[in-house]
Amino acid sequence: MSAPVQAPRGTFDVLPADARRRTLIEGAARKVLEAAGYERIETPAFESTELFARGVGEATDVVQKEMYTFDDGGGRSLTLRPEGTAPICRAYVGHGMHKLAQPVKLWYLGSYFRHEAPQAGRYRQFWQVGAEALGSDDPAVDAESIALLAELLAELGVRGLRLRLSSLGAHDTRAAYREELQAYLHAHADRLAAEVRARIELNPLRAFDSGDPGTQAVMADAPLLLDRLGDEDRAHFAAVRALLDDAGLAYEVDGTLVRGLDYYTRTVFEFTSDELGAQSGVGGGGRYDGLVEQLGGAPTPGMGWAAGVERIMLAAGDQPQALPPVDLYVAFVGAEHRRAAFRIAALARHAGLHAQLELAGRGLKGQLKHAGRLRARYVAILGDEGTALKDMETGEQRELEPDAVIAAVQRVGL
Ligand code: AMP
Repeated sequence: MSAPVQAPRGTFDVLPADARRRTLIEGAARKVLEAAGYERIETPAFESTELFARGVGEATDVVQKEMYTFDDGGGRSLTLRPEGTAPICRAYVGHGMHKLAQPVKLWYLGSYFRHEAPQAGRYRQFWQVGAEALGSDDPAVDAESIALLAELLAELGVRGLRLRLSSLGAHDTRAAYREELQAYLHAHADRLAAEVRARIELNPLRAFDSGDPGTQAVMADAPLLLDRLGDEDRAHFAAVRALLDDAGLAYEVDGTLVRGLDYYTRTVFEFTSDELGAQSGVGGGGRYDGLVEQLGGAPTPGMGWAAGVERIMLAAGDQPQALPPVDLYVAFVGAEHRRAAFRIAALARHAGLHAQLELAGRGLKGQLKHAGRLRARYVAILGDEGTALKDMETGEQRELEPDAVIAAVQRVGL
């Protein structure tokens, strides 16, 4: 026998117990987001590589080293989507959604792909639930978006949550700050980790994320973008904070909060959970007022977030969900009764019952044992002596006509 084929590193199978839990997460997302007028959108699993190069930013880790990019055989470069915001902005432009009433509010749930070193809570294919609101720069959009993620995480029982909040200001503020930070990093280059030093030109903000103690000491005194905001951005940030205060949402203003993607402007935020280890981010996002224009659309403000489904499950301390019980198990003794048994099971399902049929050729004892394992409420037994219905709770059994089985199960109640 040859060796079994393995799943690729950093991927996982969603087994049935896990799938049931995910269905609950999807249901909660639908409930919370649709109550606020967000509508579901799906975009393709792969896109033109250009979308992410232009949207996410050439200098980001995601674009530089984490994308699964391939040639489709026709000379086109395609990429498995590493994130959901740029594709949604592409769809907004492509479908002329600027003509709809603004803001256009969309939510999604799907799998994303990043070539990262796998570890607990970090995979190469992972699921995200996300929400985006395009077409309004009102600070209430920011606060509402953040509050909706808070509500979703609370609804799902995510424990040890913390919310960090900051503002990156407008694009030109950020560009000027970037130069200031670069000068500061160059002045302290001897105390920085080699990896941080090598990226001063490309992505200086990432120095705030470094785990290196020397770098951290330098960054403790680094200038903060939050202290450089222009008047309008400061007012916008103050309005967002006031709305969050009114909503009773606790947060910590953290000027070192840097998101890994280049498109953010103004508000950025992240929820972390103390239940998670090194990969503590549960979900986050922010405002991206320049992104739609960068992708060829008219200037359009946007705000959104994405949360990792696996991180949510880890931080909620999930127990596998039990299967819904079986109302009726149809057993039969003798192959000549299979057709009648099949018919009863099918009709029972049409009648709205959860019904299963014996499919493995077990003897009667084996069938009853299996029905017990499935926590079946009733078992119908078809055989040469006629048809019987067994109540699995009381153990009582009575004879009846085959056509009376479904009505009997429905009548006695479940
Ligand atoms: P990001 O788009 O990087 O802001 O990620 C948003 C959320 O997706 C994070 O807070 C995580 O919960 C989740 N996430 C990002 N990358 C991964 C990954 N490689 N594996 C699992 N979850 C991830």
